[in-house]
Formats: sequence, C-alpha cells, structure tokens
Amino acid sequence: MTHWAEEVARELLKIGERHVISTGISPSGTFHVGHLREILTGDAIYRAVVKLGGDARFIFLVDDADPLRKVPAGVDESFKEYIGVPIWQVPSPDGSSKSWSEYHLEPFLEVLNDLGASPEVIRTSRIYKNGEFKDIILTVLRNRERLMRILEDVTGRRLPEDWYPFMPQCTSCKRIDSTRVLSFEGEYVYYKCSACGHEGKVSVSSWAGKMPWRVEWPAKWRLFEVTCEPFGKDHAAAGGSYDSGSRIIREVFEREPPYPVPYEWFMLKGKGAMSSSKGVVVSAYDFVKANIPQVVRFLYVKYLPMTHVEFDPIWGSLNVYDEYKQYERVYFKLEEPTHGMKDVEYIYWLSQPDGKIPERPPIQLPYRHAVVLVQIAKDFDHFLEILRRQY
Ligand SMILES: [Zn+2]
Repeated sequence: MTHWAEEVARELLKIGERHVISTGISPSGTFHVGHLREILTGDAIYRAVVKLGGDARFIFLVDDADPLRKVPAGVDESFKEYIGVPIWQVPSPDGSSKSWSEYHLEPFLEVLNDLGASPEVIRTSRIYKNGEFKDIILTVLRNRERLMRILEDVTGRRLPEDWYPFMPQCTSCKRIDSTRVLSFEGEYVYYKCSACGHEGKVSVSSWAGKMPWRVEWPAKWRLFEVTCEPFGKDHAAAGGSYDSGSRIIREVFEREPPYPVPYEWFMLKGKGAMSSSKGVVVSAYDFVKANIPQVVRFLYVKYLPMTHVEFDPIWGSLNVYDEYKQYERVYFKLEEPTHGMKDVEYIYWLSQPDGKIPERPPIQLPYRHAVVLVQIAKDFDHFLEILRRQY
C-alpha cells in the first residue's frame, strides 16, 4: 500500500520536479482543530515530495486582508464598528496583541512549531503592501468582463453590472466591503463608498484594498506558482471556488491550476462542524498543548484527507494514544500488525515532528494509567518517582 501523501507526491513528480504546496487560513477567529488539518495535510505532502527527491516549498498564506464579517460570541459588542475593516487593521480583542489577525495567529503559529510543521508564513496584507500583487491587480482590472463571464458561468449567479475584481479600502471609514469601483486609470482605482459617502482614489502599488476571494485565490496561485493545495471540501463543490479559480488561472493567467487535495471536515462529537463564529471550538492551541505532538500528527496523517473524522476530545484522545502506541510497537517489530493496519512505517514517520524516528522504542506509558497516577501523585516529582519505580 502507498500512503495518501506519497500517492499525491508521486502524482506531483509526474508533472514536474519543483513544487509549491500552499495552504491558507483567514485569522478572523480562534484557530480550531479543523484548521490543523489544512496545515498538516500540506505538511505531509511537502515531506512526501522531499522524501522522493523533489524540490518543494511549503507556504501558509495568512488571509489577514479579509474584512471582519461579524463579532464572534464572547467579544465586546463595540467591535461592531470594525465590521468591513481588514482584520490586520482591527485592534486585538483584548488589547494584548498588535491586531485582530495577529491575536488569533500567534497561538496557532506556536503550536505549529510544537508540531514541527514549519511552512513559510506569508501575510496576504504584506503581499499587497509590498506591491507584489500590482501587475496581477492591473491584469484582473483589464480583464473585468472576462472574469465576470467566468464567475457567472461557474456559479450560475449574475453579478451586478458595475462589479469589479477589486475592493478598494475607503480612506475615510476604512471599510473594504462598502466601496464601489467607478473606474481605473494607470495604477489608480477610483471609488465611491456607500457606507460614508466618501469618493476618492487609491494606488494599487501598495496596500489599497483587496481582490475578492474568488479572484484572489487564483491570483495567489499565479504569484507563488502554486502546484498543489489542500482545501476544505466546500471549495471543491461544483460551482465552487476551485472551479472558478481553475478557469481564471487558465483563461486569464495562462497557467495550470494546482493539484487539488480536498479534505473533509473535522467534527466535534455531538456538536457538528467546528465554527469559530458560533463558539463551537476546541482550539488548536488547547488541543496541541494538552497532547503530545506525535499523537496529534498521527491523528491527522493517518486518515485520508477525505475521511470524515468525528473527534471526541475526551475518550477520543485516549483511543488515539492507544492506537499510536500500537503503531509504534508494530513499527519496532515488537508485535504483529492487526487487521486493517496499513502504511505503518510511513504513518509513524509522518507522526514525528522533526521527521526523525527514535533509535529505540520509547517507553510506553499507558494514557489511562498516567491519568490515574496524576491523581495519586502529590506533585510532578512524586509522579516521576512512581514512574521510575514502575519502569
Ligand atoms: Zn467609507
């Protein structure tokens, strides 16, 4: 059997030797365990390509230019005044960080580091600020009518006559979701804001607003020469943004779309899909900090991306520990695989944060036993003392 990540890597290497594996998440709310699937799927493919001798780059595009859409449960109502403002310019919910987006991003980057997943982190706002999108923005503006036709074709929805593939930021009220482009000339885009009535112009040589999602996605594929991208299954649906993105990159940018790796939702048992805005969340931070990185990685890399995982944060954790340890014992030939176990070596390798496999089988402390010991022990030293007596 070939592990799914190796299968994807083999497909990629048939196309070419150099690969850019891209992932992307909007830091608009708490990063939850579902978001780990995006990054760890990308990480597994990246490692698989490198293992096969390919040249790969692994990037994580942080969509911090997205506007704040609603104020999540638990955040002060006064933040309503920032709706429509790009989240890199919205203050941090509790004042502890530089912005709304960094507040959510920081703990996520910390646990990615714990997991040994180290994509290059690129903030979308910086791409705009550095002017890297300038030529692409000018191209999409010039191709407005062609883009309209593609989007209407793919989605089956009509766009307003005055639609433009750019959302300028109003220099007066800072919103990007209430402006209407009037015209463009050279690098300047002229707009009128329906929220505050302001009329003005912005230069696309630096930060001036953003492209709408369905246009921005293929624009990123073009800019970074992306060859492979994992994404949530909603984007993969017929008429979804992968379909429209594929046509845009072919017909406007004359490139091929990336190899798609759609993945299923990661569900919280009894609660349905994770949703940051509704507060139905096991945060990625809490989950990774409460577990060992090998077991977290194992949980994600073991299943095919399109496998629906319904995660029980309490009993589920216990079972995953038992399962991981079984894989470990089979890897070290301490026992025979049981029915249904496959790709044991590959999965065990992908579960190691640094990709290095221990030389000797580690001591296996049963999770349930550890839970009991923690309750008996007076403190951590005592806990270790009991363990030393037992192992
Ligand atoms: Zn305005």
